[in-house]
Amino acid sequence: MSDDRSAVRRLESMEDLVSLCARRGFIFPSSEIYGGINGFWDYGPLGVELKNNLKSWWWQRIVRSREDVEGVDSAIIAHPRTWDASGHTEHFSDPMVDCRACKKRFRADQLGDAGKCSSREGSSEHDFTEPRSFNLMLTTRIGASEDAAATAYLRPETCQPIFNDFKRVREAARQKIPFGIAQIGKAFRNEINPRNFTFRSREFEQAEMEYFCHPSEREKWFEHWRDERLRFHHDIGLDADRLRTRAHGENELAHYCKAAVDVEFHFPFGWQEIEGIHDRGDWDLSRHAEYSGKDLAITDPDTKERFVPMVIETSVGVDRTCLAILVNGYAEEELEGGESRTVLRIHPALAPVKAAVLPLSKKLAEPARALAARLRSRLNVFYDDAGNIGRRYRRQDEAGTPYCVTYDFDSETDGQVTLRDRDSMTQERIPIDDVAARLAAAVDWPT
Ligand code: ATP
Repeated sequence: MSDDRSAVRRLESMEDLVSLCARRGFIFPSSEIYGGINGFWDYGPLGVELKNNLKSWWWQRIVRSREDVEGVDSAIIAHPRTWDASGHTEHFSDPMVDCRACKKRFRADQLGDAGKCSSREGSSEHDFTEPRSFNLMLTTRIGASEDAAATAYLRPETCQPIFNDFKRVREAARQKIPFGIAQIGKAFRNEINPRNFTFRSREFEQAEMEYFCHPSEREKWFEHWRDERLRFHHDIGLDADRLRTRAHGENELAHYCKAAVDVEFHFPFGWQEIEGIHDRGDWDLSRHAEYSGKDLAITDPDTKERFVPMVIETSVGVDRTCLAILVNGYAEEELEGGESRTVLRIHPALAPVKAAVLPLSKKLAEPARALAARLRSRLNVFYDDAGNIGRRYRRQDEAGTPYCVTYDFDSETDGQVTLRDRDSMTQERIPIDDVAARLAAAVDWPT
C-alpha cells in the first residue's frame, strides 16, 4: 500500500492510546492489582525500551557529544537546607480548593476542567472553598528519630543537586566557564490533580542541564540552548505542526528569571509544555552560597575577574516527551481490501524493538532463530513464529517496530530474507549477511 495519508486517522482521543499502552505493555497504572495509585505509572517491556532510548539520545546529544557538558547522577534526597535555599520550602505550592459537597480537590487555576459536582442537591455546580496554598513537595523521614528535624524531601526537580555539586564537578572535571552539568533522574511532586495519563504524574523523570556562563554571555547561551532543544524535538520525529515555542510574558516569569521559553507539543488535550528553557541568572548559586556558607563564585583565569556565573537551564520531562512521541506516532490506517491497522510511526532510534524476525512457517524456526540470535548481539530483536504472517506484521506495527525480517523457504537456497518497512509496508529482498549492518544503520540516531 502506498503511504496515502488521507486514509490515516491520527490520535483523537487519549483513551485509544491509553488502551494500546496497557495492552502492549508500554505504560500502565502502577500497583494495578490493587486498583492503581493515582499519579503513578509503570513502564512495561516496550515502555522501558522507549524511555531508555530517549534518555540515551538526550545524553548523547547533551553530554557525550560536547566537550563543555559533564554528567552527574545525584541522590534523590538532598540536604533539606537545599530546598530552603531554592525557595521550594516556602514557595513551591499551587493554589488548592475543595468542593464542600463532593469533597474533591482541584487546582484553583484549573477550575475550567473541574466538571460537574455529583453530590449537590438541586445544582451541579461545585461549592468551592477559598483557595489555599498547597506545597507540592513529598516528604519523608530519615533515620529512627520522629522529630521534625528528620524530615526530608523527595526532590521536586533534578536541578538543585546540580547546584550543590557545581564546585566539586567543575574542579574534578577541570572545566572553565562556560560549561554545563546535566543529569537525568526521578523527581516527585504531590500534584493536586494528576491527569492526562502520564502528562501530570506525581513521580516522573526529568532530563536537565544547567549551563554556567559569564554574565555578558547569558543572552547568547539562552538563544543557543533554545534553538538546540527545539532541534532535538524535531530530530526525534515530533511533527513540525505539533511543535512550537512560547516565550513567557513578564508576569509569568519567576522573580529571578530573566527569560523563559517553553517548548510545547500539541496533545489531544491541547498545546502543553514538554520542556522549559530558562535564564535563571545567578539566583541558584547565590542562594546556595548564602545558605551553605560556601563561596561559589569563580575567578576568570585570564582577567582575574571574580563573579557568580549565570545559569541557563534546559529542563525536559522524559515521561511527557515519551507521551508526545506516542501521540505523534499513533495512526489508524485503512489498507487495501478493507483491512485496517494501528501503527506507531516512531523514530527507529526510539523504537523499543528494532526488528522482528518472522519465519514464514514453524518449519523454518531453527535458521530463523539463529538469525535472531545473531542480530540480538547488537539490537533489540523480537522473534515470533505464531499465527499468520499478516497478523504478526500488525502486532509489530502496533509496537512501533520499524522492520520485519521474514525468513521463507527460498531463504534456505538463495541466502536472502525479506525486509519489510513499517511505514511504507514495502518489502525488499536482501542477503542475510547484510541484515545486521542494514538494521544497525537504519536505527541509529542522527548526530
Ligand atoms: P507544569 O506547569 O506543567 O506543571 P512546570 O512549569 O512546573 O510544569 P518545570 O518545573 O519547568 O515544569 O519542569 C520541567 C519539565 O518537567 C516540564 O516541562 C515537564 O516536562 C516535566 N514535568 C513537570 N511536572 C511534571 C509532572 N507532574 N508530571 C510529568 N512531568 C512533569
